[in-house]
Amino acid sequence: MEASSKFIARTALAGWLGELSARFRVWAPRREGRAVLYRPFDPQAPEDNLPELDKKPTESAKHIIFPRSEPLINFRRKRDPEHPGQFLLDLRVPEAPGPSLIFGLPPCDARGFMVFDPVYNGSGTDGQARDIYYLRRRAAALLIVRSCSRTLSTCFCNWVGGAPDSAEGADILASEAEDGFLLEPVSSEGAAALDSGLLVPADENRLKAAQAARDEAKKTLKPAPDISGAGKALLERFEDAAFWKGEAAHCLSCGICTFLCPTCYCFNVTDETAGANGVRLRSWDACMTPLFTLEASGHNPRQDKAARLKNRIGHKFSYYPELHEARFACVGCGRCIKSCPSGVDIRRIVTDSVGLTQSPKPKAAPRNIPGGKE
Ligand code: SF4
Ligand code: SF4
Repeated sequence: MEASSKFIARTALAGWLGELSARFRVWAPRREGRAVLYRPFDPQAPEDNLPELDKKPTESAKHIIFPRSEPLINFRRKRDPEHPGQFLLDLRVPEAPGPSLIFGLPPCDARGFMVFDPVYNGSGTDGQARDIYYLRRRAAALLIVRSCSRTLSTCFCNWVGGAPDSAEGADILASEAEDGFLLEPVSSEGAAALDSGLLVPADENRLKAAQAARDEAKKTLKPAPDISGAGKALLERFEDAAFWKGEAAHCLSCGICTFLCPTCYCFNVTDETAGANGVRLRSWDACMTPLFTLEASGHNPRQDKAARLKNRIGHKFSYYPELHEARFACVGCGRCIKSCPSGVDIRRIVTDSVGLTQSPKPKAAPRNIPGGKE
């Protein structure tokens, strides 16, 4: 891999992203107020929207491949010429979007898509349908992951098989190296994207500088506890209402944890109409809100927040790994911890469940604003 690694100076980054914009819709993290959000890169004004690479994005990158809301089918009602008084529906599936490139996502966000993949390509459960909308966006996306040069107190990727310099799911791994970035191709598509006159072959000094920066970042993570027994422990806790009531005591059911999570993939489907025209929309949904499981009869199998929290944690650490080759449906990005307005900490719930801690619950809600002070 090192033989074909390239180096790009910080000063040439905007130019390279501009070049790539001719082939891809390029997305990169950008600071907006106190938040860092993934935004389209504007090749017409490259210096005005340089990527923010020093601060972890507030949101995950999932909305680029799994939009917050997307049309599945457009439809139009028209009269049936052969049967007066009856109507026909014209149906149209929207065209596939063009290729996209996400630059500068942290390793946990790339690993998040690997949690989505088996769900949407129909593996793991017999007879499950393949989701063309997700799969065609995913196949046309190139991921340039930047290894983390530091970690936050909320990061715990090392608990769940990740690392600050993980290349899993990446097409290119970018690492800080002195005055620019070392770019290591991980896939053939990534290698092709490195074919640019703005890049130079990586020399020995830069390879060493990048490795040193990555080693330093890893040292900033606390050692991971052994949570390999979490799946079984959570199942054993299934009927322990007092445990779940205690863990969920501070939850406000706001759903922020699910919307910011790179691995939460639930959605709702609605039909919106205006006159004879309509659209079937798929929109994100959140299992932490009471409406998620409210049935038409008025019955709600997850009426209380303890049941909802139990489902979310159980799904990520027990049910999903059982279906999908033991991979946890959590990549340890820590966004749900950092942005929860009432201080619910998924790490504490998991370690409580396996009996590693019985830590006290937070006394008061901390002032914890998305994108706020780290
Ligand atoms: S972000 Fe916190 S308060 Fe909001 S639903 Fe999630 S756990 Fe509950
Ligand atoms: S559950 Fe929390 S820590 Fe895990 S991937 Fe989702 S947002 Fe990140």
